[in-house]
Amino acid sequence: MNSKRFSDQTVASNPSLSRRSWLTLGLGAATAVLMPRALGAAAGSRRVVVWAEGTAPEDKVYPQDVNTAMADGLRKYLKGGKVETAGISDPEQGCSEASLKACDVLIWWGHKRHGDVKSEHVDRVVRRVKEEGMGFISVHSSHFARPNRKLMGTACSWGAYECDGCKLNVKVKLADHPIGKGVKDFTLPQIERYSEPYAVPEPEAVPIEGTYVYPNGKEEKVRVGLCWTVGKGRMFYFLPGHETYRDLYFDEVHRILSNAVEWAAPRV
Ligand code: ZN
Repeated sequence: MNSKRFSDQTVASNPSLSRRSWLTLGLGAATAVLMPRALGAAAGSRRVVVWAEGTAPEDKVYPQDVNTAMADGLRKYLKGGKVETAGISDPEQGCSEASLKACDVLIWWGHKRHGDVKSEHVDRVVRRVKEEGMGFISVHSSHFARPNRKLMGTACSWGAYECDGCKLNVKVKLADHPIGKGVKDFTLPQIERYSEPYAVPEPEAVPIEGTYVYPNGKEEKVRVGLCWTVGKGRMFYFLPGHETYRDLYFDEVHRILSNAVEWAAPRV
């Protein structure tokens, strides 16, 4: 399945919703829907929300949670943009209409509480992406997050999950892709190994790839950063980000995520 067919299929799966939404919206509401996209397209006004479910152990690697580590990293590179954190314990689980409407790119990290995210909030995220072009970035164990699975429309499972002492050599495969811009190849010395196959639609691009190196020297290839277009929105999946390893403090990881935000943000 190629990406264009995937995109068309996902839009076609609910062809009447967009038209109906516009018909039922008053002028004021319609303007409110349009405003964030227009504002987000202007230089320096991009709004990024980094969401986490709050299950990373506070006494371990991420005492202020994984979303804070990612947000701090993004602020180094997204000049002038607004980077905020949100979580499952916030009102409306951090997925209020107002927040999502003002959000250009939503970054999602979940692991143990995927099932606690309410359907109405999943649907809001999916609608914002597919019908209004919000970018969505799914990190590590969010492969099973409800919005990720609904946007992909597939099982989103990996072939294996192991913390077996592997390191990951990360390689920029597409240096001319916006997500590879300025990123040097690097090594994550400890990583939770997710092995292929990753059960998702064929991506339109895989700018970041990797090679696991086992303690015994065995090597295994994996896709690390994958891109899709889903309806009007763009999606990026990034494999590293286990809550007990330091992946999300690495500068090159921050560069990749920042580039992904720029790539996934709505176009004018
Ligand atoms: Zn993990």
